Amino acid sequence: MNKKQLFGTNGVRGVIGKDMTPELVLRIGESLGTMRKGCIAVGRDTRTSGDTLAGAIKAGLLATGCDVVDCGILPTPALQYIVREHYDGGAMITASHNPPEYNGVKIIEPDGTEMGDDETIQLEQLILGRTYPVQSWNRVGRETAAPHAVDEYINAIASQFPNRPGTGMTIVVDPGSGPACLTTPRILSAMGCRVLTINGIMDGTFPGRLPEPSPDGLINLSLLVKASGAAFGVAHDGDADRAVFVDETGQFVEENQEFALVAKFICEKETGTLVTPVSTSQMVEQVATAAGSDVVYTPVGSIYVARKMRELIAAKRTVVFGGEGNGGLIFPNHQFCRDGGMTAAMMVAILARAQQPLSTLIAGLPRRIMKKEKIPTPDGLQVIAQLSIKYSHEQIDLTDGLKIRRGNYWALVRASGTEPLIRIMVDAENITQADAFFAELREQVASALIPQGK
Ligand code: MG
Repeated sequence: MNKKQLFGTNGVRGVIGKDMTPELVLRIGESLGTMRKGCIAVGRDTRTSGDTLAGAIKAGLLATGCDVVDCGILPTPALQYIVREHYDGGAMITASHNPPEYNGVKIIEPDGTEMGDDETIQLEQLILGRTYPVQSWNRVGRETAAPHAVDEYINAIASQFPNRPGTGMTIVVDPGSGPACLTTPRILSAMGCRVLTINGIMDGTFPGRLPEPSPDGLINLSLLVKASGAAFGVAHDGDADRAVFVDETGQFVEENQEFALVAKFICEKETGTLVTPVSTSQMVEQVATAAGSDVVYTPVGSIYVARKMRELIAAKRTVVFGGEGNGGLIFPNHQFCRDGGMTAAMMVAILARAQQPLSTLIAGLPRRIMKKEKIPTPDGLQVIAQLSIKYSHEQIDLTDGLKIRRGNYWALVRASGTEPLIRIMVDAENITQADAFFAELREQVASALIPQGK
C-alpha cells in the first residue's frame, strides 16, 4: 500500500529554511498545476514566511499552465468556501496551529474539501519524481488578484443568521493575530453583537499568544471577557478552521464540551446522523442519541469526517453535523470543512435561543473524564495488532487503532502516523473508572513491548 510521505492529515508542514523551503513549495505548485487544470485560488495566513511561499506556489502553478487568483490573507475555511463557489482548486499557505517558525500548504479540492489520501499520494509521486512539464511562453498561466474575496465568505455565514440574534450581546474575539482578524469580528458584528478584540491586529510574529489556542494562552481573553461583561470569548487557531471558547466567567470550555453543546443545539432542531472520529468523547454521542440522532465514527482527521459526511449524504442519509473534539466543527448546511468563523456564529445563535449563560449550558452537559498519554515506541502497529487479538472477546472497533467499548466508557490505543509513539486515551464517566481502565491499558501496552526487548 502506498503511504503519504510528505503530507500529513492536514497538508504538508515544516520549519521554514529547514524542511519547508520555497523550492519544495514550487514543486508542490508545479505538481498541483500538472494534476489540476483551470484556475487555482491561493491564500495564506499571517505568517512572516507567507509571501515567500505564496510566491513559490503561484510560480509553480503558473509555470505548468494554471491560472492563479491570489486571495491574499484569509482563513482556510474562507478559501475553501471561495474555491467551492468559483474555482478549480485551491492552495492555502498555512501551518495552522504550529508555532511561528513553521509554515506549510493545504491543498483544496474544487468542492472545497481538503485533498484526500489517494489524490495526495498521486501529487506526492509527481513532487518526488519531478515529472511535470513546464509550459512554453504561450501556455503559461495568468495571475489575477481577489483581495475582497473574503467578503463573500463573511456574508455567507452572516446571512444564515438573518435576525441579528447577537443584539445586546458583547463578544470578545481573539483571532491570535491570524487571518480571522479580517472575518470573525465582522461576522459577529453583522449578527448584531458588540465585538471587542484582543490580538486583533494581523502579525506573523504572534506577539500576544501562539497560534494554538490553548488555555494558558487565553488568560488575557478570559480577563477581558470578565471585565467587559461579555457573553463569551472565542479564540481561533492560526488559520481559523477551529474555534475554542471561554464562558462568561472566563472559564475555558473543553473542546468536547463545545462540540457536545453545538451538537445538542443542532439535534434539537433536526435529527439525523453526526460524524466524528473515534477519539471524540462519548459526551457527544450521549447528547445526540438523547435527541434522537445517531453517530458514525471515522478515523482521526477532519478530512475523514468531511468525506464520510458527503458519502452518507450521497447514500441518502440525513447528516446534521460533524467535527472533532478539538474545536474543529463542520456544518453541512454551510460547507464540508471545519470552520471557526461559523462555529463562533453558531455559539451566538445558541445563547440567543437558550437565554441562559454559557457556563450554565456547559454545566448541563453529561459529565465525562478523559485521560490521555503518549508512550514512545517505533512498534506501535505491532502492539495494536497484539492487543486487538487480546481484546477480541470484547466490543472493539478497529476504525483507527483499537477502541474498546465497555458500556458507557471506552479506551483507544493508536499508533501515531507521524511520530514513533502510541497514544492511549480513556473516556469514562468518573475518575475511578478512568484510572482503572487506563492502568490496565498501560500495563497491556508495556507487556506487549517487553518481548521485543525495547
Ligand atoms: Mg487549523
